[in-house]
Formats: sequence, structure tokens, C-alpha cells
Amino acid sequence: MHSPFLLSRLAGVPALNRAWRKAKATWKRSFQWPLHAVRKSRLHKYGLTSRSPLPVARLHLRDGCACRSLAVFVRPSWDAVRPLARMRAGAPVAQALTQTAAVIDLNAFPDFMAWRKQVSKLTQGKYHRSANKARRLGYVSRFIGAKSYERSLYELTGSKPRRSKGILVWASLIAPRPDLVDTRKPMVWPSCPRHWRLTWGAFHVDESGGERLAAFAKLMRSGDLVRVESFIGHGAALTDGVTKMLMFDIMEWLLERDHPCAEGVRYFIHGSIEEGGIGLFDWKRYLGFVPMLLDVADALQQLRLFD
Ligand SMILES: [Zn+2]
Repeated sequence: MHSPFLLSRLAGVPALNRAWRKAKATWKRSFQWPLHAVRKSRLHKYGLTSRSPLPVARLHLRDGCACRSLAVFVRPSWDAVRPLARMRAGAPVAQALTQTAAVIDLNAFPDFMAWRKQVSKLTQGKYHRSANKARRLGYVSRFIGAKSYERSLYELTGSKPRRSKGILVWASLIAPRPDLVDTRKPMVWPSCPRHWRLTWGAFHVDESGGERLAAFAKLMRSGDLVRVESFIGHGAALTDGVTKMLMFDIMEWLLERDHPCAEGVRYFIHGSIEEGGIGLFDWKRYLGFVPMLLDVADALQQLRLFD
């Protein structure tokens, strides 16, 4: 019988204890190894090793703001960065299991041109030329109103069965959602410039002035952090350079810092260096995203205050 007495006797058997510890360690190693291996090879591309000290991004998600939309931004931002938060003083196990945020510290660039120069250097001008090609082909970008172009956003997401983060199964399996339609709601700027969610669309404009959404980026700001929630280009428009153009336009907006919603942003996070295939990783690296540790102590305290 499995009496508590018998279990406690079994737990006291050294050989069983050893076997249990060994099984646990093996499981942990096999679980950690792939992430660790990916991290090692990708850090190597930055000229770093697993032991290199990484710069620390100290996030201020609340940023001293008393706006009422806090619950909608601080908590989701915290939830999103937590799996990327290889913390400065974190336990070794937590550091091995969490990913490494891919971050651009905007303070490192006095203006957009300084950033563009770096990207051109890293890509031998390839990204710059690609973005220019998209403009020549008639692509333009702008912020779009909330709940606008829902049909296009949906179709765009499913326009390529395989993406850098894996196969989008739902794209081929889910019904065509006839309920979604393209509307053009006016762009309304958020009430708090330091806490917002904005969607940026890249359109192809034909000779008669007709527009077709070809790429979009969903961005979320909480305090000094702007995070890429999703960034998707139409499968058929990728070779036109539309995603490069869109990223260049976003960076110009962030680094020119003349819009209230872009003022005071310091960290721009685009997932982690470990996620996705090598194509996604190289895209981030060429754009200047670097591995950084996140110091979220401040955010934690803010959330406690918030509860
Ligand atoms: Zn606010």
C-alpha cells in the first residue's frame, strides 16, 4: 500500500534519492541544452561568449505616470518581457531557461541618420537599398487607426504558410472569417503619450491611387520601453523590400523624437536573440538589436504598488 509511512521510508533510501536527483539533472540538461546552444552560437555572431557581461537595460514601465490606462500597458509589458528577462542578479537556472532580449538602446544614436549609417555598414548598404526599392515601387507607410483594415491584417498574417517563427498552421486551417472587413477609422492618438498601442501599416499605392496593405507592425509602449508585438509583411511583397522600409520608417519616427509619443523612449525590444530561425536573428542583428539583460526590479515594484 502507498502509505505515507512507506513513501517516507522510500524517500530515505540513498540509492533512490541519488537516482531521482540524476533523473532530474538529466531532464534539466536536455531541456536547457538547445536554448543554451542557440544562445552560444548567436552570441558568437556578436563576438560574445556565454560568459560575456551583457549591457543592462533598466526598464521603467510606469515611468512615473499616473494615467488610467496603466493596467492595460504595464502588466502586459511585464508579462511579455518576463520570459526575456535574464536578470542581472537572477538565479543561474532562471538565467539558463529565460531568453535574452534583443534590444536597441536608442540613446546610443543621436539621430536616425546615425542608426541608418550603422545598418548600412552591417549590411553593406543592402537594407538601405531594399527600403529605397520599396519606395520606388510605390510603397508608403503610416500609422493606422485602431480596428482599421482588419480584413487585410488577417489575410496578411496568413499570406505565408511558413514564417521565421515556424509554420502558421492556423493560416491554412481556420475559416476565412467573412465577418472581418476593411474599414478606415481615423487615426486617434493615445491619451497618454507614454503608454500606448499603435499599428503601423505599409501600403502599396497603385497608379489610380488604390491602396493595398502590404506589411504592418504592432508596437506597444510602456514607459521608456517600446516593444514589437508583431511585425508581418505580405508573402508576395517581401522581395520588394517593404519590411525594411517599414522598419526604417519606424526607426526614423523613434529616433527623430519629435512626436510626443516617441519622446522619452529609450529601449526598443524585438523579442529575443534565441527565438525563431537564423533569418529572423540576422534581421534583428543587422538592424542593430543587441543582446541585453533586462533589469525589471523597478517594474516588479511598480506592479506590487499597483496591486
Ligand atoms: Zn501613462
